[in-house]
Amino acid sequence: MMQTSIQAVSTLIALLLPLLAFSVPVVPGGVYLWPIPEGASQVSFQNKPVMRVADAALIGIPISQATGAAALNYRLGSQQLSHEFIVMDKAYTEQHITLTNKAMVNPPPASLDRIREESVRQRALYNTFADPVDLGAGFKMPLHGITTSLYGHRRFFNGEPRSPHSGLDIAADRGTIVRAAGNATITLADNLYFNGNTLFLDHGQGLITMYCHLSELLVDVGDSIIQGQEIGKVGATGRATGPHLHWSVSLNGNRVDPELFMQALNAQTVDTAADPN
Ligand SMILES: [Zn+2]
Repeated sequence: MMQTSIQAVSTLIALLLPLLAFSVPVVPGGVYLWPIPEGASQVSFQNKPVMRVADAALIGIPISQATGAAALNYRLGSQQLSHEFIVMDKAYTEQHITLTNKAMVNPPPASLDRIREESVRQRALYNTFADPVDLGAGFKMPLHGITTSLYGHRRFFNGEPRSPHSGLDIAADRGTIVRAAGNATITLADNLYFNGNTLFLDHGQGLITMYCHLSELLVDVGDSIIQGQEIGKVGATGRATGPHLHWSVSLNGNRVDPELFMQALNAQTVDTAADPN
């Protein structure tokens, strides 16, 4: 009798676990995991194709997304259908940062062309939708360190409002090895004005990760990278107050919260319970 009820409870937990993964609130800057109906194809969000992991679509929500109803589009047979979901509110906190290098707050006119060109180049890479890559092992954190700034902070540099923080800042000693979060191809390895020495890793299907402020790049454009491979070293190049890794995750063209993204991806791909990474 006792045995039966224990079995019943563990069966119930096993049934509820996948639901828990789906119950993470959908917020601006978060992700939405949608089990794709059988036979459905061409799932898109805001006119962009979205990532497919196992039997689900994994969609990046822009931080500028209005709360309330949002919709995905998809094809089923000859029909064009839409699926509505709700984006909940999330209050991101403010972060005030003092920079002694004024050129990083208000760049000199001579640098504006360079900054504009770099921004166009990065946007094009973020909007790339490459062939699927094996992400069966999910994502792992690129390094162990102290998280000094969360995704989404509304930022002020020397009192002047700037865009919300588009990634995670992880502080570590200069020279600490940075590793690839997942299998990928390097699509950018360059020194950028704000981001310093930077790498873009394309993980296929519109999933791109960016690693900034590196002191050294250990890989080059076109390289095929496996998860955990050494790709660079922590530094403070570009707009940085000290050595740290700025790590961004971009999904269907939107920079999303790396922590929420990893929860969703790893719930779909691997059992991370035994792995503190
Ligand atoms: Zn940062």
